Amino acid sequence: MLKNSTKYRAPKSVMRGRAAVVAGGLCAALALGSTAAMAADSQAAGLFGTASSVSGIADVMKTQADGQKKTAAAAADAKKRADEKSAADRSARVNAWVKPVSSYTIGAAFAQAGAHWAHTHSGQDFVVPTGTQVMAVHGGTVVEAGWGGAYGNNIVIKHADSTYTQYGHLSKLEVSAGQTVSTGQEIGKSGSTGNSTGPHLHFEARTTPNYGSGVEPLAFLRLHGVTM
Ligand SMILES: [Zn+2]
Repeated sequence: MLKNSTKYRAPKSVMRGRAAVVAGGLCAALALGSTAAMAADSQAAGLFGTASSVSGIADVMKTQADGQKKTAAAAADAKKRADEKSAADRSARVNAWVKPVSSYTIGAAFAQAGAHWAHTHSGQDFVVPTGTQVMAVHGGTVVEAGWGGAYGNNIVIKHADSTYTQYGHLSKLEVSAGQTVSTGQEIGKSGSTGNSTGPHLHFEARTTPNYGSGVEPLAFLRLHGVTM
């Protein structure tokens, strides 16, 4: 319907985010400009031939210039707000916590007693096929990346709040000790190495780097805003 209209060209207001804000500013500039131009035309026509027409036109031109200045200021303002928003988005991503695997079936739970463990289960199992991307649930420093006995190939990350997360039974390690990782960064691939009866990720949340200091991992992640 709008395609056939010659009088009204739809502004590209459907664009989202920062582009939309800037486009809105530009469209406002065009609209203001044409309104002022129309006012100039009518005033000039009405005053045509009289001595006061010069000052009348000057007024209109000043109004138009003022309008354009305001519009430019509004566009700069909108850009500043958009820049602030993207900085806030970046910081939100850095501060976020995420799941260690994106798609999974919940396996053996924390503190569950079972035939496979000498004591109770020290983490949460996420059942995933071997080779699944395993991600750091939060940024931090890798304090261990190697063979962890019963854990098989495992990674331990220390986070800024002095909590630790561990990722066990991996088929592939993609980080090394001392390395800094960011939230959601792929650190390895899942597997079934060590004391494991089938492919899954064994995930622990701990208060120290060592076995025995585990807390319930799902509650730990939920506490950090992760929807499991
Ligand atoms: Zn496990």
